[in-house]
Amino acid sequence: MKFIRFKKEGRIFQGLLSGGKVLVITGDIFSNYSVGKVRLDLADITLLAPCIPSKIVAVGLNYRTHAREMNMAIPDEPLLFLKPSTAVIGPEAPIVYPAMSQRVDYEGELGVVIGKTCTNISETDSPSFIFGYTCLNDVTARDLQKKDGQFTRAKGFDTFCPIGPCIDTEVDPADARIETRLNGELRQETTTGDFICPVYPLVAFISQVMTLLPGDVIATGTPSGIGPMQPGDEVEIHISGIGTLRNRVAAA
Ligand code: MG
Repeated sequence: MKFIRFKKEGRIFQGLLSGGKVLVITGDIFSNYSVGKVRLDLADITLLAPCIPSKIVAVGLNYRTHAREMNMAIPDEPLLFLKPSTAVIGPEAPIVYPAMSQRVDYEGELGVVIGKTCTNISETDSPSFIFGYTCLNDVTARDLQKKDGQFTRAKGFDTFCPIGPCIDTEVDPADARIETRLNGELRQETTTGDFICPVYPLVAFISQVMTLLPGDVIATGTPSGIGPMQPGDEVEIHISGIGTLRNRVAAA
């Protein structure tokens, strides 16, 4: 199933994509909900970020190829950082290039959406706490990441976490294909089979540090091929089974 959030005539709804149409959901997708019968056209709605996370927990260096291109040793356990909830934007919303930075990169990633509160869970329990998967762009001010030596500013600007276009509940997190395109040109291409720490042990590991809440998002790391974006550029993250998340970069 493919869950979305959208705006229509000034109101915000949750919905289900079905046969190219949108069915309106009443209730909360993470607890109880019902699906209505009215079928809306995608052309008549504006897609929003498919959930509102309380936090985005991200992993640095989770693909061997990216560790190599950054000249970094492969970490012996996941290297975690946070992106603020205020960085989240939806499909087609502009990524705003901050005045403080001269180098802003895309990072195409698989986003994991948590479905149930989890603390201290095991790897085998992980699947039952995961709601689904989305495309995520871990936008990064690379110059500030290097300058600061930690990630809060570089990863935390408003608009630096596009997610969408939907949450898909049927993706196999061990075998999803990720492609990032800049102005239509392929820049990143991999499968999640190349993860250093796959999704299920990763969710368990994070839950041993902090409680994950329904709607929280985990950014699972980017493969090799990262690179800069300029105002006016169009960036697309495509993941098999989920779809394409498209955003443009706008000047500050
Ligand atoms: Mg990243």
